[in-house]
This record gives sequence, structure tokens and C-alpha cells, in this order.
Amino acid sequence: MSFRPYDIIADKRDGKTHSYDQIEYFINGYTAGLIPDYQVSAWLMAVYLNGLNEDETFYLTKAMINSGKIIDLHSIKKPKIDKHSTGGVGDKVSLILAPAAAACGIVVPMTSGRGLGFTGGTLDKLESIPGFNVHLSENEFKTILEGVGYAMSGQTETLAPADKKLYELRDVTGTVENISLITASILSKKIAEGADSIVMDVKCGSGAFTKNIEDSRSLARSLSSIAALMEKKVTCVISNMDQPLGRAVGSSLEVIESIECMHGRGEPDVVDLVAELGGYMLLNGGMVDTVDNGKSKIREKLENGEAFDRFIESVRMQGGSSDSVRDPAKLPHANFTLDVAVNQSGFISAIDTENVGTAAIFLGAGRLKKEDSIDPASGIIVHKKLGDEVHAGDRIVTIHYNDEGGVERAVKLLQESYEIGEEKPSEFRLIHEVIE
Ligand code: URA
Repeated sequence: MSFRPYDIIADKRDGKTHSYDQIEYFINGYTAGLIPDYQVSAWLMAVYLNGLNEDETFYLTKAMINSGKIIDLHSIKKPKIDKHSTGGVGDKVSLILAPAAAACGIVVPMTSGRGLGFTGGTLDKLESIPGFNVHLSENEFKTILEGVGYAMSGQTETLAPADKKLYELRDVTGTVENISLITASILSKKIAEGADSIVMDVKCGSGAFTKNIEDSRSLARSLSSIAALMEKKVTCVISNMDQPLGRAVGSSLEVIESIECMHGRGEPDVVDLVAELGGYMLLNGGMVDTVDNGKSKIREKLENGEAFDRFIESVRMQGGSSDSVRDPAKLPHANFTLDVAVNQSGFISAIDTENVGTAAIFLGAGRLKKEDSIDPASGIIVHKKLGDEVHAGDRIVTIHYNDEGGVERAVKLLQESYEIGEEKPSEFRLIHEVIE
């Protein structure tokens, strides 16, 4: 069936409901390069403003899956469980969790994305490892899955290619924070990769696309209901993103922190979140009877080096330099660092985490335009987190950079991101709730 892209855009602008045929036409046209970025940008903004209902979200997910093909993993007999995050700042969980879960006997077919908006992306982080190839063919993906127990790939010509294009466009057109677009983006690549079940880390807070618990619950419900229509089981863990996760923000810095974690020296919040999500992966895969047993197993793999062994093996099989992950001094490092201090004493009472992510982008750790490349070495190390006591002059973060261009803006934003109060705030709660 043929339509005019103009009419589809105008329908959504006027708050009308799309049919499956309209959505399929638009998505296929964009994937094939027949509908230009500017028309799709206009449609995305209309969707952002007027929304998609559940049927339209389902149609969009389906059309995006069908823009490529679904990987057939039936020949792999073990449980195939993946994890995905809705996007956060300093969120390096996938780098650690995939090898830990694989070491427990789960097969993790992981398709990831690049940085989106103010959040970092797993693919960009992996590419900071010299030689690491995230563009796997279906055969390479399967071979690595069978060999290592997990594989990490970006969308390709065959795997949800529509999401790759839409994702890049949303990133630079202010159209990321929409529940239907996030749902279709995540589920299209996750279903195309052939996982039996998915554990979602639905972020909530100042460093997430959903800033409050109501919006995060709506996103979790949307992911669960569309996944159910696709006959996939999804567990959603709503986790707190009111401060960066761990200490590092920025590709290479996060890889280094992940390696530390896989040597049993992880930051407590990173380890707790990896264990929580991993616990549900093992439970959904039938490897344990209770989530708590699953969590213990994941922690054990971080402590005994088995997760790190898997990680090294995956780096090697995906063409990366295993030398540089054995000796992180060989990973990219920035030429310059600068401490950013507070000018007031008290307790850290709030952190505008989105601003921390944006500051990292100003330093080169993310993209301002679609064509921009990322500086893998730049980013931020967070020294002070919620509830920490500080004195005027104490450093709160250290920035790492090669290009001075964005430093002034980044420093200003970081200083503005921290609120200092007189009273110690209540304990930070990492997990808000779990929706099964
Ligand atoms: N992660 C995705 O893969 N897509 C989104 O839209 C947001 C987070």
C-alpha cells in the first residue's frame, strides 16, 4: 500500500491514530532511504507531542522488527536471556552482567545501542577497547554466543535496522523521551536478537528519560504489555538514577571501572545492580529457585574471576585487544584532567544527573550531532555522591578531556548539578520496585 509521508506526518500532528499499514510504510520507507531524515524528524516530533496508543506502539515495534530479520537461536539449547537498560548515566552494567550471567550458564544474546541523549551507550563503551568489533554478522553473532555464552552487537542491516536509523535521529532531535518510542526501540532489537526473555532495567530519576516513578512505571508497563503481545516474558526492575551509577562516566573510564568490578573491586551500587538484574536473569532462565540465590551466584562470578575470564574471551572473539583489558593502562586515556570543586560545606543533597551526562557530552564523550564521533577517553570521575559530606574546596568530580572546547561549559554545568544541604539526606534506595 502506498501513502504520502506528508499525510502520515499531518495525521499524527493532528492527533489521529495510525493504521499498521501506515506505520509499516513509513518505517520501511525510512529504512530503505526513500523517506528523508527531515520528514521522519517531523513525524517523531508529532509522536513525541501527541503520543502513540498501545496498538500503534505494537505496530511500530512489529514494523521495526520486520525491517530486518529475527535471528534463529533454536539450535542453542540453553536459556537465552538478555538484559537491557532504558538508559542512564554511568550505566556500565551490561559490560559486567553479560559475562557474569554467561559464567552462570545463561546464554546472553545482547544487541545494544549507542549513546542516546545525555546517556551513554554500550556500543560506544565497547569500541573504546582497541579493535573491538560491534558489527557482527548473524553467523559471527551465533558463533560467539556458542563459544563464550554471550555476544554484543549493534543493529545491522539484518537486525532491526530501522531502530538504528531512528535511534540516531531521535538522539539529535529532542525526541528520545517518549514511552512508545523507547518501548519500540528496545523491544524491536531485543526480540530480533532471539532472546527467550528479557530483564529490563527501567531507570528512574534525574539521570533517566523517565524522571519520576509514575513515568517509570508507565514505561515498565508499556514494555511488559507490548512484550506480552509478542509472546516474550519481561521482568522490569525500576532502579534509581538520581545519581551516576558507580564513579565513571565516559567510554574508556567506564570500561576500566567495569574491569575493576570483574576483579571483585566494584563500587557497591554497581555490584548491587548487576546482582539484582542477574538474579532475575538466572531465575527466568530456570537456573535458580529464588532471586536471592541468583544474586549470590552472580556476585560469586565477579569475585572468583570467572566473569572476567568470559569478558576477556569475548573481547578476543570480537576482535578487541585482550592485552588492553588485562592491562587497562593500555586503554585510551585523556591527555588532560581537571578537578571541579564545591564552594560550600554541607551534604550532597541532590545531583542533576542529566546535567552530569550532558557535561560528559561537552567533553567529547557523546554526540551533539548525528555525524559526531566520540572521544573514547573523555569523561568524568565522580568523587562525591548523594549523602557525602563536603567542605568548601573539596573536589566533587574530575573531568578527563583531550579537547578544551567544551571544558568551560562542562565545569559550569557540573558545579550547577550539585546541591549542597545542611542535613544529611535519607539513605539512597537503589531499587524502587520490580514489576514482573
Ligand atoms: N534504549 C534503547 O535502546 N532505546 C531507547 O529509545 C532508549 C533506551
